[in-house]
Amino acid sequence: MYKISLITGDGIGPELSESVINILDAINDKIGVKVQVTKLEAGDAALKKTGKALPDETLDTIKKSDACLKAPVGESAADVIVVLRRLLDLYANIRPAKAYPNMPSLNQNTDMVIVRENTEDLYTGMEFDMGDTSIALRSISKRASERIANYAFITAEQRNKKKKVTCVHKSNVMRKTDGLFARTCEQVSKRYPNVAFENMYVDACAMNLIRQPEAFDVIVTTNLFGDILSDEASQVVGGLGMAPAANIGDNFALFEPVHGAAFDIAGKQIANPSSFILSAKMMFEWLSTKNNDKSCSDIAKKMEDAVYGIVKDGIKTKDIGGNKSTKEFTQNVISRII
Ligand code: ATP
Ligand code: MG
Repeated sequence: MYKISLITGDGIGPELSESVINILDAINDKIGVKVQVTKLEAGDAALKKTGKALPDETLDTIKKSDACLKAPVGESAADVIVVLRRLLDLYANIRPAKAYPNMPSLNQNTDMVIVRENTEDLYTGMEFDMGDTSIALRSISKRASERIANYAFITAEQRNKKKKVTCVHKSNVMRKTDGLFARTCEQVSKRYPNVAFENMYVDACAMNLIRQPEAFDVIVTTNLFGDILSDEASQVVGGLGMAPAANIGDNFALFEPVHGAAFDIAGKQIANPSSFILSAKMMFEWLSTKNNDKSCSDIAKKMEDAVYGIVKDGIKTKDIGGNKSTKEFTQNVISRII
């Protein structure tokens, strides 16, 4: 049995959580995998109630679980997810963007994954004021660059598609920080002679994601650029409602949608739960690899096939051109899986 901790979040978070919990309940013990889900508080609601965006009990329970699912958190997101990534050393943020049939996408052959460094860059919170000027410090280390580069090359090998890594940076302007990142990726590339390697400036990458998205395989980049480019990449293949992410460390992993709390559509039962369902799918893939448990990869495959199968049949939420509610979409996913 796997112990899964689940942060229910803010905005559309509770609706997405309900969807995923219903799916996990429905498949529990039916396809050879048993999960025990513990619901946890973190985010704006937790801050209001307990004075802490990331309460101690939440952190303790996460640490004792086998994996964590996290729905989006509102204003206090940085105090939850950025802290969790660093405390648990979840250094690789994996954000796939793949085109599927009957989904609005710029190019049907798009199939890429963004591997975003998750622990440093401008996200370390080193900001201060000097008179009427505010300063942010950007840190890039060789160690973090090397391990994310390795992760990207291994991902390209395992995907076994175009076998190409594109290193995205702005080393012509940030010569020290991005210079180190680009140089380190280049050095690591020598260890993977079967994988092609290219450099691209982040502005060119933003353009090429629209112009020729099918040319990408694995993008490796620093924290902030990865955040921005993955929102863009999600839009290339159907939008944020379909975009899952994994935060992976050596011993633990946390799975969450790419998007935020989307307060504009919260409580209306119109949010697309696919982003969170596909995050759970990534969790089962990770559990499968970690525990050498094939039934987990079977479940992952079933979840993915179910989501894209119903979308292909035109059962869609509003964001991707349909009229199904969050609940109706979820029921359809469940009936495809079991
Ligand atoms: P954050 O700062 O936390 O990233 P944000 O203001 O950028 O939040 P997001 O929550 O990331 O907003 O989403 C941007 C918009 O995309 C939302 O306002 C919403 O309309 C749409 N959106 C995001 N997620 C979904 C979803 N699961 N289903 C439908 N629409 C969504
Ligand atoms: Mg956003």
